[in-house]
Amino acid sequence: MSMPSTWLITGASRGIGLELTKQLLASPDAVVFATCRSPQSATPLLALGDSVSTNGTLHVVRMDVTDEISIVSAKDEVAGILQGRGLDYLVNNAGVAPQDDRTTTLNINDLLSTFLANVAGPALVMKTFIPLIEQGNRQVIANVSSALASIGTDFGREHTSYSISKYGLNMLTYKLAKERPDLTPFLVDPGWVKTDMGGSNAVLEAHESVAGIIQVVKNVTTKDAGQFIDYTGQKVPW
Ligand code: NDP
Repeated sequence: MSMPSTWLITGASRGIGLELTKQLLASPDAVVFATCRSPQSATPLLALGDSVSTNGTLHVVRMDVTDEISIVSAKDEVAGILQGRGLDYLVNNAGVAPQDDRTTTLNINDLLSTFLANVAGPALVMKTFIPLIEQGNRQVIANVSSALASIGTDFGREHTSYSISKYGLNMLTYKLAKERPDLTPFLVDPGWVKTDMGGSNAVLEAHESVAGIIQVVKNVTTKDAGQFIDYTGQKVPW
């Protein structure tokens, strides 16, 4: 039997976060802290606890990434369950994208709320959970970014607030990589995925993207700190 691994996923109620939780739990060695802002209404996530495909251990923990009090209480809850054992993998997956997000019609509240969830959220989650990650057998922080944050990929004119926020997440990850390369903070681009955010025209099913993301996250080494990598393992231009 391989060494058990411990994971914390943010935004696990639906989409990529839910699929990550599901695929990780297929392994009996995985302990997954699936966090979400409203566990009581996260029916598909709670159902994973009873699913026949679940072999690992699921802990559903409340955490709103825009609320520092909720992040700290989630950390206390997770630390209480781990009892001195660390967190091996933190996946900052929770994110938001406003509708009608163009520069010429930009809405300041959308810009600020997107920045709060997509940049301040991961910053606070990383800061709060670092002591638990330091105790892990493996120290990996995967921040879910987007090719829309890549000037090199050049996706053009839409998704302004969202792109600014993911660009900020990229710089945040770069900064942590400079300060703490031992924690392997890096960026993963899931591709364009059929979820509530990605929409039905997206090219990837959630299970395809997530299978790739899990391979990438498991295989990174400290040399990948600060890198921007897509779900197939290819580098994404900055
Ligand atoms: P969804 O909109 O399907 O899911 C978003 C998830 O984030 C939900 O679980 C939602 O929870 C959660 N969330 C939002 N705000 C908060 C918060 N304040 N605290 C805690 N959880 C929160 O999106 P995806 O699954 O598609 O996206 C996941 C990640 O992947 C995001 O970071 C996104 O930017 C990124 N991404 C997605 C792409 C795609 O094509 N789908 C492409 C590139 C990147 P709740 O149910 O409570 O709202």
